[in-house]
Amino acid sequence: MSYEVLARKYRPKSFKEVIGQKHVVQALINSIEQEKVHQAYIFSGTRGVGKTTIARILAKCLNCESSDKPTPNPCNKCSNTMEISLGRSVDFLEIDAASNTQVEKVRELIETVEYKPAKGRYKIYLIDEVHMLSKASFNALLKTLEEPPPHVIFLFATTNPENIPKTVQSRCLQLNLKTVSDELLIDHFKKILKNEKIKHDEESLIMIANSANGSVRDGLTLLDQAIAYGNGMLSKDDVGNLLGTIDNSLVLELIESVIEGDAKKAFNILAKIEELSPEYDVILQNLISILHKISLEQALNNSSDEDIKNLAVKIDQEFCQLLYEICLNAFSKFDVHPSPKESLEICLLRMLTFNPLQKLSESSVKNGSDIAQKKNLNTEKKEETVIKKENSFHLKDNNDWVRFFHSIELSPFARNYFGNMSFIDFNDNKLTLMSDSSAGEVPENIESEFKSAISSVFNKDIEINYENGNVNESPIILENKKMEDNINNAQSNINNDESIKSFVKKFKGSIKKDSIKPLK
Ligand SMILES: [Zn+2]
Repeated sequence: MSYEVLARKYRPKSFKEVIGQKHVVQALINSIEQEKVHQAYIFSGTRGVGKTTIARILAKCLNCESSDKPTPNPCNKCSNTMEISLGRSVDFLEIDAASNTQVEKVRELIETVEYKPAKGRYKIYLIDEVHMLSKASFNALLKTLEEPPPHVIFLFATTNPENIPKTVQSRCLQLNLKTVSDELLIDHFKKILKNEKIKHDEESLIMIANSANGSVRDGLTLLDQAIAYGNGMLSKDDVGNLLGTIDNSLVLELIESVIEGDAKKAFNILAKIEELSPEYDVILQNLISILHKISLEQALNNSSDEDIKNLAVKIDQEFCQLLYEICLNAFSKFDVHPSPKESLEICLLRMLTFNPLQKLSESSVKNGSDIAQKKNLNTEKKEETVIKKENSFHLKDNNDWVRFFHSIELSPFARNYFGNMSFIDFNDNKLTLMSDSSAGEVPENIESEFKSAISSVFNKDIEINYENGNVNESPIILENKKMEDNINNAQSNINNDESIKSFVKKFKGSIKKDSIKPLK
């Protein structure tokens, strides 16, 4: 029997098998149960987080024959769902826009929209990397989106939602998938390895999860490689070799010695690391990632990792930020440094040089109590400001409304409805919003979700009125505009950069416009 890659073998067939993405999955399940399925969805998120996987499951939910209406639990046994799994369903068309950018292809596709589904309830179109479509293709698509036949559902997947025209975006429900946490990835790996009967140690899995950067698919590809490399077994040394990294315990010790201001110990550990002949940029990445986790733990107190918790108490918050900057700086200049090894050494020297303990009194070095106290003070201050902010919330104009909207937690559905409205008036417990006439009425359950969110902020019941009009400054429109401005700025910065200009000229090259992205 041929070997089936893990990413395919363990591709989720139902919503409950999806790793992470709870918010998106729950929103979809609710809409199916309440029989309020949208006709066009945008699934956005970075590579390998499950966009097309979730879209395929949704397609199965809609056309499964096990029930007389769409079901959140597709059976994966009826011919409709099996054909979707095998890519053979005539009612489920999957197109990769990265290879079908010509307007002809989209036109052909749209011509089939009018035909009723052959076997299923719906005719479902999944367009992957939809932002790659040409302007003409989007225009052709837009006409159909304006008045889609009731049997048609569009599922768009994209890594760059900001490149989809606003006219198209506004007719879709956008669901944003998050990167998957290391903890969830490690749990997933463990289940798979148990099922595959493959021995492993914990450190290997941590290293692989770290390198996967929140992508399930990348994680499983690395796991495949590690299994092949280790001859059917995973050990931290093999996996470290494969990934050019080392198990984190040495990096953690290194950070600890920096915090203690112990240069001798730090360079002893560095010597041990160098014996393992790692990729030095990967070590820098590990340092950055650990410092990031420590900062998060200091702010949120939510790490499940004992080592991170311990370091978070030991290190001063500002010093932690400084170390992060030093490592990031070293990493960003890594490629121009003549010696990878020296690049890490100089980074370590800088970290030791800026240690504030050298300026503290002898006693606080011994017990570190000043630092702990300072940390507590910081958190208390933070809590105070949060409470103050909520009690004094003004909602007087559209700017207030945009700020307010972004400060409350809403489901993707409610976000989509209310995020596309602008502010008219708020007084006497009555909030009046302007809504686009094409947006349609807000469903009752979504309105009540929004009402309870807003009422809890103001500590009283708030009534909501709608007026139809031309909305041009809603929170979502402004957010998209900001994103676009950021991209334009980034592009003009790059295009006007003298060294890049001379570089482009020297090599007679050009800059791919889509390759420029603003830093988030
Ligand atoms: Zn079925």
